[in-house]
Amino acid sequence: KYKVRVKGDYRYELGELASTLNHMAEEIVRSNQIKDDFISSISHELRTPLTSIKGWSETLDSGGYDPEETKVGMQIISKETERLIGLVEEILDFSKLQQNEMRLVFGEVVLKELLQEIMLNMWTKAEKKNIKLVLESDENPIVIGDGNRLKQIFLNLVDNAIKFSDEGSVIQLVLNCYPGQVEVDVHDTGLGISEEHLNRVRDRFFQVNPLNGGTGLGLAISQQLVEQHHGTMEIVSELGKGTIVRVMLPLAEIKEDTDQPEDSVP
Ligand code: ADP
Repeated sequence: KYKVRVKGDYRYELGELASTLNHMAEEIVRSNQIKDDFISSISHELRTPLTSIKGWSETLDSGGYDPEETKVGMQIISKETERLIGLVEEILDFSKLQQNEMRLVFGEVVLKELLQEIMLNMWTKAEKKNIKLVLESDENPIVIGDGNRLKQIFLNLVDNAIKFSDEGSVIQLVLNCYPGQVEVDVHDTGLGISEEHLNRVRDRFFQVNPLNGGTGLGLAISQQLVEQHHGTMEIVSELGKGTIVRVMLPLAEIKEDTDQPEDSVP
């Protein structure tokens, strides 16, 4: 049997090496396919708001619109521009995380206040589907983290929960403290994820249904940001029943709580 020298190491036998190379080639083909799919899906995601912005700006430029119609047009342009900025930021964040260039600024974060902010930020979106956002928390834990990035994680999870829930449902944010750890559950009773897809939803670019919009980067980004906070993210889901995304973070301390135990919007 021939042994092959790889980087000064004689470990590989020829057959073994051939099968390793084959495996690597398959991986490259697979990851190229995922990237091709991503490029086609992201192009579509970028094109939709751009088409709308172009259409409305040309229409408004041609004149003859009353102030009310002009206002609607301007609002659509502004909303679609926001959407574009969000998409580009998501892609940039992902690329920074990939290259290990994301710099986090750590400080004390009052998790309950952060979740209350998330509920206010997502309120309009939830209201459009008549979805109620509820926050349950008995204690007031502090974690050491990057407030903006922690916000990004939970905005993404609540955004998904709204996106994949039916009209009129309830999304719960549940905050629990354990020795040395804080748990935040984002609990929806929506579409759910099949067992087959559950392992893959955190893969970059993966989407169960690419026609739903989005980039397939949200959970990949959230997972990596949670890890940078020395935490874990677990997803429990049942198709047709709903999903719980559970984020565990190291607890710094518990502060005295002056708030009501339960908040909800709307
Ligand atoms: P995006 O939301 O942009 O598609 P994500 O990485 O956030 O990307 O999510 C990847 C996929 O995981 C989604 O496309 C969807 O198929 C599935 N998913 C995520 N969150 C949920 C949820 N709460 N309920 C059902 N499916 C979900």
